[in-house]
Amino acid sequence: MSERACVGNCNRRVRAEQDAHSEAIDAWHAHQLARAEAIDAGQDPDEDPGPETDPPAEPTLRPYAGNPIWCLTDAAAVRSALVDLDEKMTLHLLAGDGHGSLNFQDRVSGSAEPGSPSPAHDDQDELVRWLREWEHAFRESQGWPAAPYRGESAPALTSAVAWLTAHLDGILSHPDLAEDFGNGVLRWHARLEAATKTRVRPRWIPRDLRCYQCHAKTLAQLEGEDRVECRNPSCGENRGGPVVMTLDEYNGRVGDAKPAAKLARMAAAAEKQPNPFPDYGLKSGRA
Ligand SMILES: [Zn+2]
Ligand SMILES: [Zn+2]
Repeated sequence: MSERACVGNCNRRVRAEQDAHSEAIDAWHAHQLARAEAIDAGQDPDEDPGPETDPPAEPTLRPYAGNPIWCLTDAAAVRSALVDLDEKMTLHLLAGDGHGSLNFQDRVSGSAEPGSPSPAHDDQDELVRWLREWEHAFRESQGWPAAPYRGESAPALTSAVAWLTAHLDGILSHPDLAEDFGNGVLRWHARLEAATKTRVRPRWIPRDLRCYQCHAKTLAQLEGEDRVECRNPSCGENRGGPVVMTLDEYNGRVGDAKPAAKLARMAAAAEKQPNPFPDYGLKSGRA
């Protein structure tokens, strides 16, 4: 069985490179076809076959493997987003209902006003429905009985999140459910973060070693992730993009660099030592 690439964020550059590659392949095929047609047309001076071109170079980035579908880092990101949905929705409801008293009256009096009295509550109902669909899908895939009644609104959300969290490893390993569920959870989380303005801007922590590809001091680690990337946008321009490596790979390189750095320091120190045979600017006797 071949290893499957992780469907998560870790491979976004790999996917971008593959998309660019298939576009380049299409363009190259179109060029080949146009050339063949021009050559078939024979002596027609209007049809210049153009130069023969090489097919585009193969993609060079190596994708991170899924375990089996999401890598451990991205699966952990889905898990923390799922667990956080409950709290984010609570914040969303608190903020969303700050101006809701008048609408609440409308709702009580049963008036058929257009528009929702509480968009935040609608969001909550939508999220609960969405989570229940996934619970239903996973139960069905396992041949398990239907979900019990989980009540409405906030308690229903808490209980659906708890059930899905308890079965997350199974869902994220299920070939038919894993990708869409994980991406859906991340999208819901991003949506609630945007609505509650609680998005934390990820922080790049600079790392000491120079990039082995562009030799700039631009390697950095995104806080909380075990990945080190080169932040120089022109790094590897003709070689499939900036360097990306796991923290383990980076630390391995730090270990390798230590002896080299020590040698470089020793060499520098040796140069600073006074020359035991100074010639005081005089030329040696020989021509
Ligand atoms: Zn991944
Ligand atoms: Zn670089």
